[in-house]
Amino acid sequence: MRTYFVKPPAVIRIIRGNRLQWSISNKSDEVYLTFDDGPTKGVTISVLDRLERHNARGTFFCLGKNMVQHPDLVQEIISRGHVVGNHGFEHLNGWRTKTSSYVDNVERCNEVFETNLFRPPYGKILASQIKELKSQYKIVMWSILSGDFDAKCSPKQCAKNVIQNIRPGSIVVFHDTVNAKENMMYALDETLRHVESRNWQAAALPEF
Ligand SMILES: [Zn+2]
Repeated sequence: MRTYFVKPPAVIRIIRGNRLQWSISNKSDEVYLTFDDGPTKGVTISVLDRLERHNARGTFFCLGKNMVQHPDLVQEIISRGHVVGNHGFEHLNGWRTKTSSYVDNVERCNEVFETNLFRPPYGKILASQIKELKSQYKIVMWSILSGDFDAKCSPKQCAKNVIQNIRPGSIVVFHDTVNAKENMMYALDETLRHVESRNWQAAALPEF
């Protein structure tokens, strides 16, 4: 059985939604494709090439430890017109991490690359952690998980997860990682084609 929801259940969005960003209210035709857990050698560049081919922009929620290893990839993301967000220095589970350590880890990532967009790893963050971070960061969740990280999910199913649910204002999660690559590349291609066919625009998340 799948242990995650492609779309967050409405009840979770209502309880936790007041300080978290689950979608962008949007009168235009923008959708927001996001890529977590990179940057990754041999993967992130392929994502950038695909986005470029479709004149699309994206947001990369990078891990601080990966940015330290691949500053060239961070530079490439920025120079091609995309946005970098904070995903923590390490991929910490907020529910299992003391608030002070959690906040330190986010700050450590921000020292590598300064941004005011933060996405909690696994989407797991405590109210006390939100309280500490919310003045400095926009905490970005999602409206759609592609499921690209799930070894039991086929590339076609990942594409379907996105295409059946995406609409203007949607925030979609992909992963630019080695493990997700096969599913992600296929789902991303299909998503970009779908977005074009609807005359929508894939845009980077607005910073504040
Ligand atoms: Zn992550």
